[in-house]
Amino acid sequence: MAARTIDGAAVAKRLREKIAEKIVARRVVPGLAVVLVGDDPASQVYVRNKGRAAEEVGMKSWTHRLPADATQKQLLDLIAGLNIDPQVHGILVQLPLPKQIDAQAIIAAVDPAKDVDGFHPVNAGRLSLGLPGFVPCTPRGCMILIREALPDLAGRKALVLGRSNIVGKPMMQLLLRADCTVMVAHSKTRDLPAECRTADILVAAIGKPEFVRGDWIKPGAVVIDVGINRIDNLAQPGKSKLVGDVAYGEAMERAAAITPVPGGVGPMTIACLLENTLWGALGEVMGL
Ligand code: NDP
Repeated sequence: MAARTIDGAAVAKRLREKIAEKIVARRVVPGLAVVLVGDDPASQVYVRNKGRAAEEVGMKSWTHRLPADATQKQLLDLIAGLNIDPQVHGILVQLPLPKQIDAQAIIAAVDPAKDVDGFHPVNAGRLSLGLPGFVPCTPRGCMILIREALPDLAGRKALVLGRSNIVGKPMMQLLLRADCTVMVAHSKTRDLPAECRTADILVAAIGKPEFVRGDWIKPGAVVIDVGINRIDNLAQPGKSKLVGDVAYGEAMERAAAITPVPGGVGPMTIACLLENTLWGALGEVMGL
């Protein structure tokens, strides 16, 4: 039987509506400052989408642009100003940053109370200790989608494919907190297909188009595809299309539920960013 599609766009829309209602009810105007260094086309699109989404739910948003040759000091000075600006409740520095800038130093310079990306060492540490704090948006969105498909997570075997600081590691922490039995796989994992076949929940975040094949999926598993990869569209020569890290058509035949690309995890990332910004404005950290 074909898998159920987990409609991330619809779940994200409902979450955005709830955020907009709460903004009105709590009479706050959350402010999101987005910092973009350089002119990477994909980053420009992401930043524009984030700003637009913030305004649509009733937030204020500002985009601060620095040239590709900006210095570390320029960026640190900008962040220092945003840290003390009372209108700004969330600061997001769009990654990747140009080579001359130490990304870790920049992440650490953001006030942890405004770190709506959840990348600051304080928030990463709080997540691993099971304390409240800002949780990275993509893994948080994945958890919401997993719960849509599988409300009872306790004791389920979950495999996270990818161990980045922004997706894989926090994803592992959240699944562990939900009482899953968690495994993290990466480029050095031996016999990846066999490991994947043991997972009730498979989260793929490696950035390799259609890398996870259908016969790697345990029958009845929930598959969350985080990957966003642009490839040539063979059906329309000269055009490209977006695919995930999972061979979607094949996986549909084995999984119980799966997220599409696009329209799965991507919209959830933005909705969770807005939720984090609202929590920042309310002075409350997100309960997990
Ligand atoms: P990174 O490049 O930071 O990490 C990739 C991870 O995948 C690494 O841990 C790497 O292992 C692992 N990996 C790479 N190749 C293989 C392989 N052949 N076999 C097993 N593991 C492998 O990526 P990100 O975590 O930043 O992003 C992953 C994907 O998710 C990308 O496609 C990105 O575009 C997408 N993404 C989507 C978002 C959304 O909103 N939907 C948000 C963020 C990311 P190792 O550590 O050993 O090198």
